[in-house]
Amino acid sequence: MIKTLFEKIAAREIPAQIVFEDDLVLAFRDINPAAPAHVLIVPKQPIPRIGEATADDQKLLGHLLLKAAEVAKQLDLKNGYRLVINNGADGGETVPHLHVHILGGRHLAWPPG
Ligand code: 5GP
Repeated sequence: MIKTLFEKIAAREIPAQIVFEDDLVLAFRDINPAAPAHVLIVPKQPIPRIGEATADDQKLLGHLLLKAAEVAKQLDLKNGYRLVINNGADGGETVPHLHVHILGGRHLAWPPG
């Protein structure tokens, strides 16, 4: 199977600033940050996008969200932060390996563009 970009980062084939890792998930700094703090957290076992997750992924998805909150705490985003999942072309998804954006360090406007 061809590895996704984020699998290559997990395998250390592509360098990234990794901020958290356990058996199931990996968190690393986004290469093109949209905020002072911009980290992506991904399941190591790829799911293309949230719209293709199944009931079998329930535990992993819960773990991913809980670890996203832990990473936000580790990043010291006391004033708040935003978790974002882009799904498909209209959602702005560019990498077909499910990832949660952790964004913070500035006030984030709503609604998004
Ligand atoms: P999406 O647009 O799919 O929601 O988010 C993909 C994110 O991956 C983008 O924010 C983009 O900057 C980031 N990204 C793309 N290629 C790389 C890379 O090689 N390394 C890192 N660290 N981030 C990447």
